[in-house]
Amino acid sequence: MALLPIITAPDPRLKLKCKPVVRVEGEIRRLMDDLVETMHTAPGIGLAAPQVGVLKRVLVVDIAKEGEEPAPLRMANPEVLWRSDELASFEEGCLSLPDHYADVLRPRECRVRYLDEHGELRELVAEGLLATCIQHEIDHLDGVLFVDHISALKRGMILRKLQKAKKLKEALPA
Ligand SMILES: [Zn+2]
Repeated sequence: MALLPIITAPDPRLKLKCKPVVRVEGEIRRLMDDLVETMHTAPGIGLAAPQVGVLKRVLVVDIAKEGEEPAPLRMANPEVLWRSDELASFEEGCLSLPDHYADVLRPRECRVRYLDEHGELRELVAEGLLATCIQHEIDHLDGVLFVDHISALKRGMILRKLQKAKKLKEALPA
């Protein structure tokens, strides 16, 4: 397994739509494992392939708390089949928008269909934090960030701060 560098916003690569996976085999399985390792190391509770510059519909999530046994889910071609009318708000963050958080309202429950790491078609009903996390990661596959769900004013503020942080980092001597 390998740690992959995570792309941070603003970056045009985070705004692209990803292509479906044709078959879950060696290369995709390796990508899933690398995503899991990168997510756990960050640490984070979700990571999508475009965040490491791979424009494929692959993501991983793991909402196990610190001290709990890790329980990563690996998904290819995830698709939301159903969303609850009831909404829930969580304070979201993102490894591509480090140090920024905002409350985002999303369906409280959803049913998702995906291919697992063995290429098996699976369905999962998720609720609460897991539902939010999966929807946040699927958004990444369509070039959507959590800040796209909040007010333009707040989004602008966060993106400007991230841009400034990037420039500062580039200006620092290596
Ligand atoms: Zn994210």
